[in-house]
Amino acid sequence: MKDIQKLLIDLQQKDSLILEKLRFIDKAPMRIFEVDEPLKQAKLELENVRKKNEIASRKKREKETALLDAQEKIRKMKARVSDLKTNKEYQAYQKEIEASEKEIFTIEDQVLELMEEIDAVSKEQKEKETSVNAEIEKINAFKKELNAEMAEQGKELAALKEERTVMVARIDPEVYKTYMTLLRDSGDGVAVTTARNELCWGCNMNIPPQLYAEIMKNEEIIQCPQCRRILFASEG
Ligand SMILES: [Zn+2]
Repeated sequence: MKDIQKLLIDLQQKDSLILEKLRFIDKAPMRIFEVDEPLKQAKLELENVRKKNEIASRKKREKETALLDAQEKIRKMKARVSDLKTNKEYQAYQKEIEASEKEIFTIEDQVLELMEEIDAVSKEQKEKETSVNAEIEKINAFKKELNAEMAEQGKELAALKEERTVMVARIDPEVYKTYMTLLRDSGDGVAVTTARNELCWGCNMNIPPQLYAEIMKNEEIIQCPQCRRILFASEG
């Protein structure tokens, strides 16, 4: 195998590694977005439960105030019982007291119901808080790991690019230009590939026997008739 072929194969290997690292780095924001989504959902659910709790607590306070008012009303009415003069007045008074007592029972019932609701909602809120905190912890660990990995990939990428520059300097500019065009246009970042079993391993096309025989010699830079990728004979 000639030097230029070895160089092109090595360059392709290097570029494939570079592409792999670039893809990893490009995908990082999406991966963070993906792990952030369940947290957003959990936070939203927690917010809803908090609101439910707030509304129930406010209602309970209102009912407690209404209860005090009703009790105060009865207390005042009872205080003026000696002012009653006629039987009719007394009956009206009794009716009013009964109505107020009934109102107190109703409010007390409502307060009890609200207390039960608050208990249940508080329990749910605590559960949601636990799951939000667990989610946050999980995400922080993931981000920390990802950042470390990104730093590592970035370092490796810089080293690969340096090695690549050294290699490119040894390749004929025309050949390099062809290589770069293929790399860009290939869609998968493969400009150099093997020919095996009379097939191009880049596009799977059958290679005519005469051309295949030429490729097997590994003496010239030969491109696939269909995908234009540079082909070399695989060793082994
Ligand atoms: Zn091909």
